Amino acid sequence: MCQLSFNQLALNSALLHNLQSLNYTQMTEIQAQSLPPILAGKDVIAQGKTGSGKTAAFALGLLQKLNVKRFRIQSLILCPTRELADQVSTEIRRLARGIHNIKVLTLCGGVPFGPQIGSLEHGAHIIVGTPGRIQDHLRKQTLNLDNVTTLVLDEADRMLDMGFVDAIEDIIEQTPKSRQTLLFSATFPSQIQNISQHILNEPIFIKVDAMHDNNTISQYFYKISNNEQRMIALRLLLLQYQPTSSVVFCNTKREVQEVADELNNRGFSALALHGDLDQKDRDQALIRFANHSCCILVATDVAARGLDIENLSAVFNYNLAHDQEVHVHRIGRTGRAGSKGMAFSFYSTKDEHRIHLLEDILERNIQAQDLPDASVLERQPLQSLMITLRIEGGKKQKIRPGDIVGALTGDDGISGDEVGKIQISPNWAYVAVQRQCIKKAFSKLSTGLLKGRKYRVMVVRG
Ligand code: ADP
Ligand code: MG
Repeated sequence: MCQLSFNQLALNSALLHNLQSLNYTQMTEIQAQSLPPILAGKDVIAQGKTGSGKTAAFALGLLQKLNVKRFRIQSLILCPTRELADQVSTEIRRLARGIHNIKVLTLCGGVPFGPQIGSLEHGAHIIVGTPGRIQDHLRKQTLNLDNVTTLVLDEADRMLDMGFVDAIEDIIEQTPKSRQTLLFSATFPSQIQNISQHILNEPIFIKVDAMHDNNTISQYFYKISNNEQRMIALRLLLLQYQPTSSVVFCNTKREVQEVADELNNRGFSALALHGDLDQKDRDQALIRFANHSCCILVATDVAARGLDIENLSAVFNYNLAHDQEVHVHRIGRTGRAGSKGMAFSFYSTKDEHRIHLLEDILERNIQAQDLPDASVLERQPLQSLMITLRIEGGKKQKIRPGDIVGALTGDDGISGDEVGKIQISPNWAYVAVQRQCIKKAFSKLSTGLLKGRKYRVMVVRG
């Protein structure tokens, strides 16, 4: 842990003074690591968990560089939702209190256009906004980014989750190549690695709170005497640990279907994923699982191959994998992104030799654990956090994520924080919303307009 004070940085005295008055004495770790390269004008990718102080890291960087006398848009900060954009604007204004006449403008969807155009005509130094609305202003030519020197992507992982990748790339195209680009994210999925290669210039990579050692996955083994006990063991562990997203691996298609059916009969929400599904059912299952509308996915290894899901809370080996490498690959899907993962494996007497091979690989003894007490079966299965809505229109109808967020969050809509992943295919769009606001979200979407048109909306249930 570094203990560094802001005074050691090349920040102007107005900013330093104000930091003192805000009681920001020590830098947080991500600030201590990212501010020196940011102030040196470098492109930076910084990964750190929520609450690590990322906002001040980029805000101090862009405020230090800002020329207040030059009344042009010099910084653009893209955020996934209006709520987050408002938080960022508030923090920037707080940090900028020592600088007079600085103008920070927030541009987000879900509010009328007119007043935003008016504010833009008055000018601003810093724009904080959501990709959809910024793109709309660019299209209407009410916003000009020719003078941007700092571009920030805040909560980049969440923006990509919400389907904003095309909008972001379009916006970036309209900023000067000479800009400094800063990317902040809590996780670093492959999609971010891909886009960062062409939007950042020789970035410095900073990561705080990495926890990628083997200890992030706890492996438990259970000795099972027959198939009936296998199913009970699965239910017991699901009810005991209540994982928010888990994959149950089976070795055959038939078993996948049987396990999923049985779990659903028992009140769990489980999706089956195997090679016999048609493309649409398969896509829909993956979308629902990835957006947290379903807690359990039962799958064969082959079907799960394309599964790009970060951060499963648990993996179950309903049957041991035939191969030790497959075992390691299966359990490697949990415990990512610094969170603690659990892997539960069931084995029977006939698997003893596989257990010995695993002991060699894991370099430890494997001991059978006791299953939770049978009384755990009385508990209620966990409900998914989110519910998926399907809109019968997609890319072909030019529907974009911003249109959907806008339609959901406008007047008496739901808040941006309640919107989850958005995925748009040629003819459909899927959006996850938090369970408690599904009614409101459904009625907002089905009565509202997307690109000036009404679309049929369905709640997707298992
Ligand atoms: P993140 O974006 O990484 O989730 P934030 O930038 O929202 O985190 O910061 C979390 C909280 O910590 C905010 O309330 C912010 O005001 C506060 N904070 C940030 N940096 C400091 C600091 N150096 N000293 C004290 N408080 C800080
Ligand atoms: Mg933040």
